[in-house]
This record gives sequence, structure tokens and C-alpha cells, in this order.
Amino acid sequence: MAEESISQIEEIPEACPHCGNKLSPWQQVLLATDRALVCKNCWYRIILDVIPKTKKTDSDKSKNEEPK
Ligand SMILES: [Zn+2]
Repeated sequence: MAEESISQIEEIPEACPHCGNKLSPWQQVLLATDRALVCKNCWYRIILDVIPKTKKTDSDKSKNEEPK
């Protein structure tokens, strides 16, 4: 039994974490799409830490084997 709790909830910041400049809804859409957005105010690059979806591959079990 494997519990896979993959949270796909993407937390899009409403404002720039660097300068606090409020992002427009369109900028939030771009941020959600591109996973990155450059603040127009301070040119800070906002990057979302999104874990890529793990696809089931055959070569997945060949590595990282933990001996029990
Ligand atoms: Zn900013």
C-alpha cells in the first residue's frame, strides 16, 4: 500500500516577495504558466518551486535502492 499524496496546489503569490509590488491577475496567470515571472518594479525574478510531475518510468527503480 503506497500512499501518494501529491499536492498539485500551486501557490501563486499575490505580490512580489522582494519589493511587495502587487501582481496583476494577468501576471499571476503568467507566473502560473511559466513558473517564473520578472517583477516589473524591482526586476526580481519570482520563481515557483513546483515539483515536476513524476512520470512512471521503467528506469526509475534501477537507482536509489535502499537496503532494508
Ligand atoms: Zn518586485
